[in-house]
Amino acid sequence: MSSVGSLSFSLTVFYIRCVPAPNIDTIVSLAKRRGFVFPSSEVYGGLGSAWDYGPLGVELSNNIKQSWWRWLVYERDDVEGIDSSIILNRLVWKYSGHEATFNDWLVDCRKCKGRFRQDKVFDKNEDGSFQAKECPTCESNDWTDARAFNTMLQTKLGAVADDDPSALAYLRPETAQGIFINFLNVQTSMRRKLPFGIAQVGKSFRNEVTPGNFILRTREFEQMEMEYFVAPDAEHSKLVDYWVEQYMEWFHSLGLVRDNLSLYEVPEDERAHYSKRTVDVMYRYFPEREKPWEELMGIAWRTDFDLGAHSKNRLDEEGKRINPDSTEDLSYFDEPTKTRFYPHVIEPAAGVNRTVLAVLMDAYSERTNDKGETRVILKLAPQLAPIKAAILPLAKNKPEIVGMAKAIKRSLQPTLRAVYDDTGGIGKLYARQDEIGTPLCVTVDHQSLEDEAVTVRDRDTWEQERVKVSELVDHLKQRLQV
Ligand code: ATP
Repeated sequence: MSSVGSLSFSLTVFYIRCVPAPNIDTIVSLAKRRGFVFPSSEVYGGLGSAWDYGPLGVELSNNIKQSWWRWLVYERDDVEGIDSSIILNRLVWKYSGHEATFNDWLVDCRKCKGRFRQDKVFDKNEDGSFQAKECPTCESNDWTDARAFNTMLQTKLGAVADDDPSALAYLRPETAQGIFINFLNVQTSMRRKLPFGIAQVGKSFRNEVTPGNFILRTREFEQMEMEYFVAPDAEHSKLVDYWVEQYMEWFHSLGLVRDNLSLYEVPEDERAHYSKRTVDVMYRYFPEREKPWEELMGIAWRTDFDLGAHSKNRLDEEGKRINPDSTEDLSYFDEPTKTRFYPHVIEPAAGVNRTVLAVLMDAYSERTNDKGETRVILKLAPQLAPIKAAILPLAKNKPEIVGMAKAIKRSLQPTLRAVYDDTGGIGKLYARQDEIGTPLCVTVDHQSLEDEAVTVRDRDTWEQERVKVSELVDHLKQRLQV
């Protein structure tokens, strides 16, 4: 975010004040107005907390996923990618522990009958006991006992009777299990040695008790998960720190401001059953609140729990097979030490949607001039901007100018996402592109017909530069770093 101090150098004298996104609602309204995210199923009154990504939102979210994939799978040498099924054999969820433990604890308000996640309406005391707060809806303090609610979304497979229990299946609540059950397939087919990772991006589903806050908590969402497999005697805690640092760098490269990110060392009683250490990366989603932080991602040392749990040869303390249903053993033979073991896993698990929201919040800025007129400028990192360059004709009634602008758009499109727009005066067109985060505008004017040059205008500084059409692609590529 720009500070007031730096603005005086970069902006015209008319614009004197710059503010970041004050709250999520500001982003909700921009997102709808400008085609990023729409409330889902609106024609039928909506579907509580489901959202649809519009023409610009799908580009932004794809750009985030591509950036992540490029960073991990292409630029590193130790990560492979996969795309597993959303619906897996139900036994996967039995042995992963999700059927028994993937629960939220629920409480009901006796007065207004509102239903809440216990951790959202109770404070935890130091001794682990809970202290009830007021009901957020009716302000009373009369709660039922907490009870477990499994948040996996159920479905049925095949043309079966409604009550046939063998047809029960789940929509995956995390992408991770699809990676674990393919560990051996990937390791042997790609001839991998430890340490190496497997990355996957895709939809996950959770029957959240209290979805809300726009795309922060929904029942259908996307995850970018990576399981990094290491030896049992590796320095697991250091590896957690390493991946925390790596992700902080990556988020920074997406334009997130360091001050809006913080780390939370998750205490044992809040960790998932498989985790020996978890660090959450938190983002300041609620700058207006006393407690502004919410989880953006988690980095967990999942031990060898999952690979062992899905393996036919793993025994419990009494020497009994823990998984009589598995037909495979997901262990690893380490050639140098001639030993066989279940690798341990460090898992960075990030949400696509929460990253989209954080990116929009940090990119948002408003500039207000002396007359009180406000302009929104979305300072998206060029790699994330849905549109990289807008080609604008200065006069839309001049066929030569329009023809030249359209030809420039077509010549740019194989290299970068460009659009042509002539639906307003130039001031309005610039303002529209600023608001959706387009880093560069290319204006074709009368002079262009003479000198085969165009004006390239910068979203953040509003500075303009004259560039030869023959050099335009290279100029834009260099400015955008794409
Ligand atoms: P929370 O405590 O907020 O419910 P979690 O700790 O259960 O999240 P993880 O299981 O660690 O979440 O999932 C990894 C990431 O997936 C989260 O950090 C978040 O970015 C994303 N995520 C999880 N649940 C949701 C959801 N209901 N809606 C949107 N994103 C989600």
